[in-house]
Amino acid sequence: MAKLKRKPAEPVRIDIKKNDTVRVISGRDKGKSGRVLDVDKDRGKLLVEHVMMIKRHTRPNPSKQIKGGIAERESPIAVSNVMIVCAQCGPSRIGHHIETTSGGKARRTRVCRKCGQTLDAK
Ligand SMILES: [Zn+2]
Repeated sequence: MAKLKRKPAEPVRIDIKKNDTVRVISGRDKGKSGRVLDVDKDRGKLLVEHVMMIKRHTRPNPSKQIKGGIAERESPIAVSNVMIVCAQCGPSRIGHHIETTSGGKARRTRVCRKCGQTLDAK
């Protein structure tokens, strides 16, 4: 039998960026919201502040200044499990808006699908 090779995951198009606020819509931390700390485009995952906290039991290692005990840290969550939070109307889907700047260049901005508010901080 042929060996099953694990295909590399398809890169996911992620419209969520660092420092966006997202709400968790499914999974263990459903209902929580937090700031995006990191985006992993290759795996389609995000690191969200105070979401999917895991406990790491660490052994003290004095030479590396590591204290032992239980450390809590975030673990990645799938993008499909979160929604972006619009400052005006709450969790919403992301739409796009093409703006033409004064220089004649088209700029693509992310907007809230519900109220049209821009989601990109200038
Ligand atoms: Zn909105």
